[in-house]
Amino acid sequence: MIELKSMAEIAKMRKPARITAEILARLCEITRPGITTGDLDREAERLIARAGARSAFKNYRVGDVVFPAVLCASVNDEIVHGIPCAERELKEGDVVGLDFGVECDGFFGDAAATVAVGKVSEEDRALLEVTRACLDRGIAQLVPGKRLGDVGAAVQELAESRGYSVVRDFVGHGIGRALHEDPQVPNFGRPGRGRRLKAGMVLAVEPMINQGGPGISVDPDGWTARTEDGRKSAHFEHTVAITDNGPEVLTGVVNG
Ligand code: MG
Repeated sequence: MIELKSMAEIAKMRKPARITAEILARLCEITRPGITTGDLDREAERLIARAGARSAFKNYRVGDVVFPAVLCASVNDEIVHGIPCAERELKEGDVVGLDFGVECDGFFGDAAATVAVGKVSEEDRALLEVTRACLDRGIAQLVPGKRLGDVGAAVQELAESRGYSVVRDFVGHGIGRALHEDPQVPNFGRPGRGRRLKAGMVLAVEPMINQGGPGISVDPDGWTARTEDGRKSAHFEHTVAITDNGPEVLTGVVNG
């Protein structure tokens, strides 16, 4: 069941979303060659405490596996859910997906961005730019009366027109009092199909786009998802409220 949020609930969601966006922006800023993904996680944890919020990810459980960090840091061929590590030093030319969320006053925010570490290849820069554009395209469909298939189709069409592929195994989601709520928000689909969008839905839209094929594998740690073919992947995400006036990006940062 898709829970519709009142205007008052959407107003409450602005706070965790803003904290999420500000901390993520800071993490993107300090990402550079020589920093480790463990350093980024530690800084994120410090900033969460300072903001008076709680991590949305740390101790998140799927069956028997528990996520041990406040940040997902996914390097190069890692798609999502990479576990930060003190030994994982980022180097010039890497791309790193930073996925981050907090809970505050009973509501969640969730956002992600993929960052170029130092100077990256033209090929990798294009992947980042197109994936970000896929997110914008998806968000533009978040208008009452459109359908979930319109969102997925918009993302898929742009990604595939550039020769990339769309990850099928992970999708976006509703968000609110829980990090993951109904509905699932696939990054693929057919226009005019799927659930009808309504004002009051709050969705996390998060295209995961691969340079090569869409196939994935999950590491023995139970979390780290990587491309099957070893080529790079990018991931951008925003938490967005659907209003009568169209999409309101709750995790957008002014002057960010
Ligand atoms: Mg998400």
